[in-house]
Amino acid sequence: MASPFLATAALDMAALADLDRRHLVHPHQRSDRTDRAVIVRGQGCAVWDADGAEYLDATGGANWLCQVGHGRAELAEAAAEQLRQLPYFTSFDVFSNDKSIRLATRLAGLAPAGLGQVFFTCGGSEGVDTAIKAARLYHHRRGESERTWILARRFGYHGATYGSGTATGFDGMQHAVGPNLPHVHKLTPPFPYHSEWFEGRGCTDFLIDELAAAIEQIGAHNIAAMIGEPVMAGGGVVPPPDDYWPRVRALLRHNGILLIADEVVTAFGRTGAWFDSPGRGMDPDMIVTAKGLTSGYAPLGAVLFNEDIAAAVTDDGFFHGYTYFGHPTACAIALANLDLIENEGLLDRSRQIGAWLREGLTAAESLPVVGDIRMAGATIGVELVADRATREPIMAGPAATEIRKAHGVIVRDYGNTVVIAPPLVMDEQQAARTVEAMTSVLTRLHPDGTIAPR
Ligand code: PMP
Repeated sequence: MASPFLATAALDMAALADLDRRHLVHPHQRSDRTDRAVIVRGQGCAVWDADGAEYLDATGGANWLCQVGHGRAELAEAAAEQLRQLPYFTSFDVFSNDKSIRLATRLAGLAPAGLGQVFFTCGGSEGVDTAIKAARLYHHRRGESERTWILARRFGYHGATYGSGTATGFDGMQHAVGPNLPHVHKLTPPFPYHSEWFEGRGCTDFLIDELAAAIEQIGAHNIAAMIGEPVMAGGGVVPPPDDYWPRVRALLRHNGILLIADEVVTAFGRTGAWFDSPGRGMDPDMIVTAKGLTSGYAPLGAVLFNEDIAAAVTDDGFFHGYTYFGHPTACAIALANLDLIENEGLLDRSRQIGAWLREGLTAAESLPVVGDIRMAGATIGVELVADRATREPIMAGPAATEIRKAHGVIVRDYGNTVVIAPPLVMDEQQAARTVEAMTSVLTRLHPDGTIAPR
């Protein structure tokens, strides 16, 4: 079916969906989902499908990004200008380019103190792999080569490569693909709603004891680092108790274990700040970012190292890196994107959007199928349960689909949680429309998972 006309011919939704099913292998593909929503245009928080139907994008490109909204001319112009000037040049060895230097400098200025050394990637998974390698190499160069273990958490999402995918706390990511990364140990996540996991004890007390026991069992001298999202995103938007990260941090530091903050979702305003980890008392040694760095206008990630790690890994050379490291066009877009986030006050706006959404969802709180509503900045997770006492889950897929198809609002489902994570330019009316759509569907959702007609 490959033919030159494909690039330009008018193809409606049915035709595109048919070609999609025949030729596109989707990430996170699920065999029970055969329908397709082919999005072809976006402006602000609105997107249009191939048949011209308009949707309200309440999940930032359905992937927690698009901070500045769709269709921003400023970013298109930054990209076009850079493509004319220098689309690409390597940063390997002695080479560099002006945009990656400017962006690294800008990031160093925004980052928590001490995290001023930047390593670029194409996205989050490569960033997590980079951080894991850097942690192991750091210890090796300091004469502690046996420090190879990585601590991670169930329900944490860190990516899909073998390294990041093994750190990810969903078994499906590691299933039936041969040996995964060795020396990864999973801990219980800080998920206060699921008090049944903590054996009747306080969430943080339980988790600190569990962490201490894991360190004891594996041996501190064998552990390189722990990785965690400040607020778990794909795990269901889960802010930890306030004392969780400070106590984890102290225990890790006491044992010489590095801390990697996965801020792929949380950075660049998603939770109301440039970076989320400082506000949670995390004080990491490395931060992994991606997504909001370019608002998704180009694939780009960045790992921020502290000086000791940067010095240790570069000491005898860092034989690691990707062709598109510091891609000038992606970096030019990121610079323009950070300008927009700053100049348009999108960090404050993020908190405002979160407040509109959370306030609007107050009525939904008492619905029998709503177990818990959690938020971090402009990011909301609504956990669905068949029974509020047992917290038995209702998978959120059908509700998310109904919200999109019947109300034209795009939200995402992660297990039994419906997630809202809109562009940070959402206005009050759009927030109200999102809440209305959610509330209507959740009101019609039965504990058996079926949805009554409108
Ligand atoms: N970390 C987190 C917290 C993520 O949410 C994701 C992607 N959703 C990743 C890492 C992986 O990023 P990427 O898909 O860009 O490789």
